Amino acid sequence: MNPISLAVHGKGIRKAIQRGFSIVGRYGFAPNKMERALTQYTDILSRFDCRATFPIISLAVQRHPELIKKYYDQGIEFAIHGFRHLDHSELSYEEQREHLALSLQIFEQANIEPRGFRGPYLRWNAETLTVLEECGLLYDSSQSLTWDVLGEYDNPDYQHVLQFYGSRSATNYPSLPNLEDKLVRLPYSLPDDEALVERLILPPGKMNEMWLDILHRTHRLGELFTIGLHPERISFCKDALEAVLAESGKLQPAVWVARLDEIAAWWWERTRAKIEIDMVSEDEFHVSVLGPEGTTVLARGVEVDAPTVPWTGSYQQVEATEFTIRAPRHPFVGLSPSASPDLVDFLRQQGYIIEFSSDRKAYAYYFDQPQFVARHKRFLLAQIEGANFPLVRLSRWPNGARSALSITGDIDALTLWDYVLRMFGK
Ligand SMILES: [Zn+2]
Repeated sequence: MNPISLAVHGKGIRKAIQRGFSIVGRYGFAPNKMERALTQYTDILSRFDCRATFPIISLAVQRHPELIKKYYDQGIEFAIHGFRHLDHSELSYEEQREHLALSLQIFEQANIEPRGFRGPYLRWNAETLTVLEECGLLYDSSQSLTWDVLGEYDNPDYQHVLQFYGSRSATNYPSLPNLEDKLVRLPYSLPDDEALVERLILPPGKMNEMWLDILHRTHRLGELFTIGLHPERISFCKDALEAVLAESGKLQPAVWVARLDEIAAWWWERTRAKIEIDMVSEDEFHVSVLGPEGTTVLARGVEVDAPTVPWTGSYQQVEATEFTIRAPRHPFVGLSPSASPDLVDFLRQQGYIIEFSSDRKAYAYYFDQPQFVARHKRFLLAQIEGANFPLVRLSRWPNGARSALSITGDIDALTLWDYVLRMFGK
């Protein structure tokens, strides 16, 4: 789908129909074709024992509840992709509330519980987030993050669409969930299928290479790769999807492949894990961690009185959540009492164990920034992970996984008829 064409030019009905049919022609859309695409998609997923998230417009759920329920019962997550396929950054608070209430009603009638949202065209505004939170959704996955993997294949058309999406660069911002008040924000990774198929002229095999590149980078950094692959493009992109899923199964420490609702729930619960540190003596600390199932402690440069297995770098994975360690200095992150609350929050969300203290010498890592903004995050993570000082922390992902991968695909319409109605704004 060409978001700019739809948003900017999709005004006249005649034009909309023409454009609609031209796109229909291009993808060979027809009734049942989408169902075939969904079956092909889910067959690939089950071969890799993987489940996915499909954000879907609510009108498509209303028109085809049984079909959607069939995939839902197979373990596919359906998130809300708008009541209709509209640019939410252009909608008021009241409009978004009304649309979301209608969506929730439709999902409920279909016996499907939605946990999250992705804005059509990856666009949103502050009211979007307020409304999602007020309506009790767990996550939003509308903010895109662009990985610099294109090299010579980059072009102005792609850059233009990135601007339209309000995309941020993964070079400057970590690709990680972020718990903002009660809403988990999950980044969407670009280039997605649309960018690779529609905007960039790539030789065969290049798409696999680019997605594998993002997979390896997120694995190295311990971050999240959210693949966007619209079901209608599964035939074009299945090789790339299979390549990523096959490779993710080989990487060590593991890649956690999960749906967006599972990732959001994990992030929410792990951030709230209770950690107690008791000083037994000058250089002995008793650590006790109470977190969700899968909570894992990582340690480096310290002696642990519990079994450990090598993780990555100089980290060991501790096979216990209650144990004693010996270390010459506090192997946690020391923070000045005047450190920015945003810094404290960010470190906690990463699984670092924090102690407030004015004694900076007692810590290998000590921060006192009174100001902390999103652009500082990558640098801070590199500072902590790039050095080898003694540290005990929680693993960001469950069961000691090193990074996370989520397969997602937006469904804008299920049949040709839905598609035409969507062009009329129905
Ligand atoms: Zn869409």
